[in-house]
Amino acid sequence: MPVLPRAILFDLDDTLIRAYAQPEEAWRRLLHIFSAHLDAHDAAAIERVRLAIMEEARAFWSEAAAAAKWRLDIPGARRLSVRRGLARLGRPDDALADRIADAFTEMRRKEYRLYPDAHATVDALRAAGVKLALVTNGASTMQREKIERFELGHRFDHIQIEGEFGQGKPEPAVYRHALESLGVAAGDAWMVGDNYEWEVVAPQKLGLCGIWYDPFGAGVPAQASAQPARIIKRLAELVE
Ligand SMILES: [Mg+2]
Repeated sequence: MPVLPRAILFDLDDTLIRAYAQPEEAWRRLLHIFSAHLDAHDAAAIERVRLAIMEEARAFWSEAAAAAKWRLDIPGARRLSVRRGLARLGRPDDALADRIADAFTEMRRKEYRLYPDAHATVDALRAAGVKLALVTNGASTMQREKIERFELGHRFDHIQIEGEFGQGKPEPAVYRHALESLGVAAGDAWMVGDNYEWEVVAPQKLGLCGIWYDPFGAGVPAQASAQPARIIKRLAELVE
């Protein structure tokens, strides 16, 4: 077992479970199902719709205050992105947009997958005496459903969900509360996750080590204001 900290804070979505990563392919698949309703009869037409929706979603999520609010209602946020995407293409249809958005939400939910080494890694860390917290943004119901479905609840000493705690990453209070709950100082803790801002930049400002989970090899963002203490491509690297 390598040198380990006293405590590790884990992210949930796209760290322990695969949830929202690589949305391009998922949107292509979903929009193909709606191609007749969208008058999108070839790949290029479907691609135009996908780009319009994803560009609206990007604009939408790039505003910090709006993002913090909509993180608690992802299905609602999707409806808005699709409505705006169809409007951008000059064919507004809110009823169709909502059907498409809801179908995407359901498709994604069905396709959530536990990363294959997640349970073994977390259990090995726990067996080695590391205190563990799960620190996740999002609504209580949605996140609790994932925690139950993937048998994660009993594996952590502390579970902190944005919708229950009242604040989400990257607010400093989020990390401080998790550390307090575990009874561990920032300098004795790692934060592990896939979101560069939430799991590297923000926690490192507080003195935690940010371990960036980069399973697809995206590489450190060009404009990054901080370097991660470590980059891992598989969770099991933490215990090897
Ligand atoms: Mg994540």
